[in-house]
Amino acid sequence: MTAVWVGFFFIYGLVFGSFYNVVGLRVPKKESIVSPPSHCTVCDRRLTALDLIPVGSYLFLRGKCRGCGTKINAIYPLMELVTGVLFSLAFYYLGFSIELLVALLFISMLVIITVSDTAYMLIPNKILLPFGIAIALLRFVSPLEPWWDSFLGAAVGFLVLFLIAIMSKGGMGGGDIKLFFVIGLVLGTKLTLFTLFLAALIGSIVGIIHLRRTRQGRKTPVPFGPSIAVAAVISYFYGNALVGWYLTLFT
Ligand SMILES: [Zn+2]
Repeated sequence: MTAVWVGFFFIYGLVFGSFYNVVGLRVPKKESIVSPPSHCTVCDRRLTALDLIPVGSYLFLRGKCRGCGTKINAIYPLMELVTGVLFSLAFYYLGFSIELLVALLFISMLVIITVSDTAYMLIPNKILLPFGIAIALLRFVSPLEPWWDSFLGAAVGFLVLFLIAIMSKGGMGGGDIKLFFVIGLVLGTKLTLFTLFLAALIGSIVGIIHLRRTRQGRKTPVPFGPSIAVAAVISYFYGNALVGWYLTLFT
């Protein structure tokens, strides 16, 4: 029976992932998320049901618009697939529980900010605020151990990022700082600090790859949000195991 539910959550994630692409692309531009209906941004062709099957349409259309042949960025089907995988993973580990709600909200928020930070170098308050409030409330019904660790984690995450932002003089955006507040609510103090460590590691790797792929001398900033999102998801599911394993290396 579990397998059926895991499959169900995968499909559920694919569909929501498709919606989160729209939210991540439109909210920062202050556009409505329902109208106008999805259309090609180059030729304005309105997308039909055939274009809107998560992942499937991208594969079937070979990553091109049916109207003008413009290449569709692979990040969109990738985010759909990632949401599907993470939703099913969340159900697999947590089952039907309040913590599952926390996990689904957390994953949803991270997917949306990955899309918007990649597209516009922006993590909108309009996304962080509703998810942050919902998660803070849920942390009273599905608390960490001890219960105040959520709020300590949020404060520590915010402060550490704030200090890094001051010291790096603009190397860290305001969105990243506020994002770490929400991460703290979900993960607590220890795993929030682990997320920061992991995000810095992933960010450095992404930075090096980016530097090699772009021409030297052309300094284009790389958004940090996606690295934070990947680190936060890894921390959520495997943080305790990874920290435990890391500590055994020194005993
Ligand atoms: Zn087109």
